[in-house]
Amino acid sequence: MAGADCAASSKLEFAVQMSCESCANDIRSTLSGVNGIHGVDINVGTEQVLIDTTLTSGEVQALIESSGRRAVLKGMGPSSFKDLGAGVAMLGPEGNIKGAVRFLQLSEKLCLIEGTIDGLKAGLHGLHVHEFGDLTSSCLSCGSHYNPGKNRHGGPGDRDRHAGDLGNIRADEAGRANFRIEDDCLKVTDIIGRSVVVDSGEDDLGKSAHPLSQSTGNSGERLACGIIARSAGLFQNPKKICSCDGVTLWEERDRPIAGTGRRSADPPAANL
Ligand code: ZN
Repeated sequence: MAGADCAASSKLEFAVQMSCESCANDIRSTLSGVNGIHGVDINVGTEQVLIDTTLTSGEVQALIESSGRRAVLKGMGPSSFKDLGAGVAMLGPEGNIKGAVRFLQLSEKLCLIEGTIDGLKAGLHGLHVHEFGDLTSSCLSCGSHYNPGKNRHGGPGDRDRHAGDLGNIRADEAGRANFRIEDDCLKVTDIIGRSVVVDSGEDDLGKSAHPLSQSTGNSGERLACGIIARSAGLFQNPKKICSCDGVTLWEERDRPIAGTGRRSADPPAANL
């Protein structure tokens, strides 16, 4: 995995409850000098904080919250203004495993996959893009790993791999996996409408003698999945990147701030 210094950065958008400029200064001083944070843009009026970073959204959220304020991730956008494609998938809502996975095409070659998944057992879990965005039989109808090149199963560093093979994510003792993967095989435009699935066990990356190793990495049952939707409207205002993509996971206590910013706190009007 690339180190923080040579990793490609993206912009993360957070809603943070703040009422005055001094709150913004607190957040700025908390983030200043932190390795992996390259820019901080705070709008007190809209309670919006944009962070240019190579850290995971979970790491940045923890940093902001260390200033004493709750933060809710609203989305991810590019550091430049080029729209090369972006997508987002929400895992759940049924079951105990919940999360959001975001896909952002950073360049012709590089795709960033960023997310947080809660409710996992501590340890490694295989993560894959699957062929179909079909959840009619839950994750079982998602098809196989996305594999347009008709290759064998492998890992992120391999040439011979399914395009959808994203390797493993690691959940901590609390059951949370924060991850940030830079991949030069997957393309966002190819996976809109497909699905992302997290598995119960570790993906052996096609390197074991198990009969399933070369087809699935023997990573166990499919625990949770979500359809990858295109993130629209991300790049409309070049002065202020709106990375808010409409998928926001928050705890009930964060409801007041989760609805701020570009997203209306009111339910949308019925359109019958
Ligand atoms: Zn595979």
